[in-house]
Amino acid sequence: MPDERQGSHHADNSTGRDRTVLVDSGYGRDANITLAKVSAELAGRPLDWLVNTHCHSDHMGGNAAVRRAHGCRLSIPIGEALLIEAWDEQALWLSYADQRCERFAFDDTIAPGDVLDWGDLQWRAMAAPGHDMGALMFYCEEERLLITGDALWENGFGVLLPGPGHGERLAATRSTLESIASLDVGTVIPGHGHPFSNAAGALERSLQRLAAFERDELRMARHVLKVMFVFSLLDRQRLPLSRIPGYLATIPVYADFNARYFQLSDAALAAMIVGELERAGAVKRSNGYLIACV
Ligand SMILES: [Zn+2]
Repeated sequence: MPDERQGSHHADNSTGRDRTVLVDSGYGRDANITLAKVSAELAGRPLDWLVNTHCHSDHMGGNAAVRRAHGCRLSIPIGEALLIEAWDEQALWLSYADQRCERFAFDDTIAPGDVLDWGDLQWRAMAAPGHDMGALMFYCEEERLLITGDALWENGFGVLLPGPGHGERLAATRSTLESIASLDVGTVIPGHGHPFSNAAGALERSLQRLAAFERDELRMARHVLKVMFVFSLLDRQRLPLSRIPGYLATIPVYADFNARYFQLSDAALAAMIVGELERAGAVKRSNGYLIACV
């Protein structure tokens, strides 16, 4: 799940002598772009293995298409298996948040502590709970590489849901950031944005953001709605301004959060979300439509 100012997801491709591996498959809408990039990278070799850092629609959206095209093994974090088997549209933030993902089957699961041989390198799966309680990150000590998914980006981390269990998610986020700080990391390969080298700086920025969320649950709630809204705006390309209040009323995440935290009319909720995103430079108005600025 991208931040309101983050770009689209980059799938990370790793090739080795023995097998080729793709970590995460991007948005479902971009499946053809992902497939073309993977084919270009593989230069005729088959893709052997697709792995997910966690099961959100911008990381698993291409799973079904990639698996269909390559017949590859698909592994997901062990903590996501029950949700994927049940295809829990609320817990997976699918119809609940107006997101889409083609349903897929997986072959097996990866657990924290598992050692994986990718691209002729050894990678250790590590628990990365917080944004997604079942998420994993992957660490290669030899090359000082860390694939973080949405656990750490250069400027922040994946959205944290307030509400029941939010204290547990905040604590888990802190422990994940602390476990990253304990590693010797040269390059972070995040789930959004380009690889970066200053892990310490990114951790500091994320800890500041986390502290702000710890102080203010309402801030978390506003942040979630803004992130979800931009996510859907990117997916839909644009929304007529006049239809935004009605749109928000039909998508459960907005209705639930509005009832719990804001108690605003649909029009006032739309004005709050759109106004804050406009001031942040994340969206703009154009000929009666709202569009995302990427
Ligand atoms: Zn995510």
